[in-house]
Amino acid sequence: MIPHVPDHYCLARLTTREIAALEGDRVLVVLSVAAVEQHGPHLPIFTDAIIGEAVLSRALALREDDGRVWALPQQAYGKSNEHTGFPGTFALTAQTLAQTLREIGRSVHLSGLQRLLFLNSHGGNPEILDYVARDLRDEFGLLCFTAHPFRFGLARDIISDAEEGYGIHGGEAETSIMLAIAPELVHPEHYTVELPPVRTFMRRYTLKGPASFGWLTRDLSLSGTIGDPRGASAEKGRQLLELEAQLVAELMDEALALQLTPPTGERRA
Ligand SMILES: [Zn+2]
Repeated sequence: MIPHVPDHYCLARLTTREIAALEGDRVLVVLSVAAVEQHGPHLPIFTDAIIGEAVLSRALALREDDGRVWALPQQAYGKSNEHTGFPGTFALTAQTLAQTLREIGRSVHLSGLQRLLFLNSHGGNPEILDYVARDLRDEFGLLCFTAHPFRFGLARDIISDAEEGYGIHGGEAETSIMLAIAPELVHPEHYTVELPPVRTFMRRYTLKGPASFGWLTRDLSLSGTIGDPRGASAEKGRQLLELEAQLVAELMDEALALQLTPPTGERRA
């Protein structure tokens, strides 16, 4: 059974009158942002969306149910042009995703709500979410947070060393989480291993890091997998999901607690 956000956290179930009655500064609206894209021969194209929803559901369950966190319907489509050329990739352009998020943020603001979190589960989205968050602060005064749980290195002690830095798509980590939450959608008989030998032709540039490049999956992989799913297990997936959910629960609390008090007084020349 794929986990879903429980009904009583779904903002979309409220009426306009109920939303108007929410205390805008005491409430955090969470938008899960994902992707619909090829995930190698063994995982469904909805993998990032399923994982995003599972992490959010579990994070909500870990927090005290204080009525202060509300989830919007998921933004399943993301910026996935790195996977064009593989059937099953349904990509928005950077511009369309940015515009969509901007308009959702504007609507959050117009609904009287002041805190928004973009909870991201796809590696191609962070730059877009980060700049839109700043624009929403500038244009509407919205406190807009972004979280990319997969960037916290939580998998480091759980997955195999060989995967570190390369198992970025359909590899051990993602496959493990899918085995934990939706094993019926995983096809181990189609596991493929592709670890692009980036270090053999470059010393400092990596696929993700302080020096990177605009790679496409088809530059690096024939199957669409970048990584090695063979070490994946449901147990590793449960551990990883729990770590991510704990992190996200804390990030939600921090986002609720932040009081930004801009400095006042005379500006020195
Ligand atoms: Zn993914």
